[in-house]
Amino acid sequence: MIPHRVRPANSCDVNTSGRYVLYWMQAFRRLHANHALDCAVMWSRELKKPLVVFEGLKRNYPWANARHHAFMLDGMQDNAAAAKKLGIAYWPFVETPENSGRGLVRKLAEDACLVVTDDYPAFIVPAHNRAIANCSVPVHLVDGNSIVPLSLLGPAASAAAHLRHRIHANFAEAWRNRAAAEPEIHKSAKSKLDPPFEPWAGDRAGAEVDASVPPVPEVRGGSKAARAALAEFISKKLPRYAEERNDPDDPADGAASRLSPYLRHGHLAIQEIAEAVLGESWSPAEIDPKAKGKRADFYTRDANAGSFLDEAITWRDTGYHWHFAQNVAHGSGTVSWHGEAGSPSFNFESFDFSPLKKRTLEVVLPEWAKATLRKHVGDKREHTYSLEEFESGATHDELWNAAQRELVRTGRIHNYLRMLWGKKVLEWSKTPSDAYRVLEHLNNKYAIDGRDPNSYTGILWCFGLFDRPWFEREVYGTVRYMTSASTAKKFDLDGYMRYVNGLG
Ligand SMILES: Cc1cc2nc3c(=O)[nH]c(=O)nc-3n(C[C@H](O)[C@H](O)[C@H](O)COP(=O)(O)OP(=O)(O)OC[C@H]3O[C@@H](n4cnc5c(N)ncnc54)[C@H](O)[C@@H]3O)c2cc1C
Repeated sequence: MIPHRVRPANSCDVNTSGRYVLYWMQAFRRLHANHALDCAVMWSRELKKPLVVFEGLKRNYPWANARHHAFMLDGMQDNAAAAKKLGIAYWPFVETPENSGRGLVRKLAEDACLVVTDDYPAFIVPAHNRAIANCSVPVHLVDGNSIVPLSLLGPAASAAAHLRHRIHANFAEAWRNRAAAEPEIHKSAKSKLDPPFEPWAGDRAGAEVDASVPPVPEVRGGSKAARAALAEFISKKLPRYAEERNDPDDPADGAASRLSPYLRHGHLAIQEIAEAVLGESWSPAEIDPKAKGKRADFYTRDANAGSFLDEAITWRDTGYHWHFAQNVAHGSGTVSWHGEAGSPSFNFESFDFSPLKKRTLEVVLPEWAKATLRKHVGDKREHTYSLEEFESGATHDELWNAAQRELVRTGRIHNYLRMLWGKKVLEWSKTPSDAYRVLEHLNNKYAIDGRDPNSYTGILWCFGLFDRPWFEREVYGTVRYMTSASTAKKFDLDGYMRYVNGLG
């Protein structure tokens, strides 16, 4: 394992009389291709103690609803089966009104030699990690987010183009140090230790949360479904990806992978996706050093594979790294928190990035974007809508309404329409801050891949993050503008409307 992946969250000594090594699985919810799991396995071998994997599901995470819950519960079922095969103790906990999880991880840590957990740089995980750092045993935060460890990528980049070069420079070495495809479980790691709480029985009873956002029947979560989706993508869609990825036609026919929900919940590792795309025989010897920093040809001369990997690695990492860099730059070596040095980390109380009660956009946008949006804040808006009107898809624009309906019904919007969807909320809100609130809420409530680093950077891109100034116009200022009419010309609009109308 590359040491750059692991950060100590405290300076406690190992509790050699602890009963087990605890892996608290929060974000990389899988028992394969997982650097955090590898780290926990290594410690259990070193200390000759059983490995315990604790995977919990709270009831009160922000935007908790039946859709998000169902996806994660599917994953927990798969993990229970995988743990059984590996012979390790897997302790699943699902909070119910009668059975609170408050203080549970801290209690488990008290009996542990040490704790290993996921260094996911957004949503509620940094807060969890900050809290558990106060326990009496070492807590190791492991970055299993990407192929290249985020700590090797330097300070926050202002554009994907700047990060691409850094990723490419570190890629070959990181590839050689990928997580174990299947963990090598030694004898002492195996056990049948029972948890000191009522473990989840594998059903939905008692696990109900806000049912107003129901599960999407066609979409199953978990590593099994993730692998099936990956196999389907490789055989049917990848060969058309470069040409057709931007066409949001009927998703069954589209070329986009639809893998983001699995990546978001850690049911699939980005390394397994890259392995499947590049093929078994691929090695870093195939990297073209002349293409370092370029979108195409770096990993492979296959245009489809190259185009896909640039999205899945450069663009995905841009969001993850941006969050990671904010946390590290403004934190105390571990994870930062709002109120400290005015840093733009996630504010748990208001569910946004507004430290010191400043508005999010004021804190995180580049200067040019802030200045231009401020200059145009008083511009007359031809249309403005409330959150309720946006949410129910009741704008004057049929394409926008269709995209919103797709999101509500299926938990996804195709990337191309998602950009338009976000831009129009900026145009049709009273202020940019109002627009940000609406987008954060709708994206994170309905999208199965929501509440991710790329939720925030995707939304913030609509306001100028990672972009450059364009031409001056009303409301947007020099922030890039998109119209439904020109977007609709670029794909089969009728096909898309037929698909959305058929969703019911
Ligand atoms: C307003 C807005 C909100 C967004 N919210 C989210 C979100 O909540 N969660 C999320 O994962 N992505 C988000 N994105 C980025 C992008 O829309 C999705 O990652 C992509 O649509 C996922 O579909 P796919 O898996 O079929 O993508 P594919 O085209 O198959 O791409 C493969 C993978 O590459 C990554 N990727 C592709 N495009 C982007 C991109 N533009 N930025 C970052 N990573 C990318 C994703 O991990 C994706 O799964 C948002 C973008 C915008 C404009």
